[in-house]
Amino acid sequence: MIDCHFHPRPTLEANLAHLNGSGCQAAYLLARLTAADDMKRFMAQEPTRFAGYSVSTGVSAPDAVKLLTEAVKSGAHGFGEVKYHVEADGPEMRRLYAAAAELDVPVTIHFQEVPHTATEGVFNTGFKRFDTILKEFPKTTFVGHCDAFWANISADYATDKDYPRTPIVRGGITDKWLSDYPNLFADLSANSGNNALTRDPSFTADFLKRHKDKLLFGSDCSCKDGHGAGISQGGNPGAARLAGKCVARETLTVLKANTTPELFRRLVWENGHRVYKLKMATA
Ligand SMILES: [Zn+2]
Ligand SMILES: [Zn+2]
Repeated sequence: MIDCHFHPRPTLEANLAHLNGSGCQAAYLLARLTAADDMKRFMAQEPTRFAGYSVSTGVSAPDAVKLLTEAVKSGAHGFGEVKYHVEADGPEMRRLYAAAAELDVPVTIHFQEVPHTATEGVFNTGFKRFDTILKEFPKTTFVGHCDAFWANISADYATDKDYPRTPIVRGGITDKWLSDYPNLFADLSANSGNNALTRDPSFTADFLKRHKDKLLFGSDCSCKDGHGAGISQGGNPGAARLAGKCVARETLTVLKANTTPELFRRLVWENGHRVYKLKMATA
């Protein structure tokens, strides 16, 4: 398995502890721009465990696109995860989408419209209008993630809850857009992805099959050891369902239960390598 939503820990050992504990062969690292050199070092030290990395920096800074472009030219595989207090179809993000198309690298986006805490705010808002962007930037590869992305898998979603647990009303925009737009992909990470795969068991297997080339396994897990130690859902009361658990393990279990071995391999290994254009290492 390759964990395609892996936020780097400060040391090589801490990164390997989560990978080994959760049973993953490799990680795709989502790093801050300032940590790009560390990502290169991890890849050089453990080339079969760290397959590549994305970088992210404040999108409202005037030189954001210039800095991210330079980072891609010196080895980053994408932009992400992009998580800032802007509209997903605003000017800051549009220039990022244009640059990603030019460089031919994916953009991983955190869509969140319901704050988890009193001070957190919201990120990349206006998801219900995002089909306009998918049409306007056909050459940009978008990887969607987080609460608003996954809650909109149900057609009745009213941007009112972080993690709805009710049965899925078929025909939600996320499901529909994954079918309609070849440039939209999804990472299955975090409580949001796990929630979408578990809230309505009658939905899951067919959804995974329907989008077999569009979905990538990822965890976004912050536990220490790949078994839920430390604080795995800190500061996010809505995600208490997974507190004390490793999101990677939980989501891999759901995926395994709802796929054939061939489909499982696509979701947890092949798709991530293809979308982020990574070299497939053999263990
Ligand atoms: Zn995120
Ligand atoms: Zn974990």
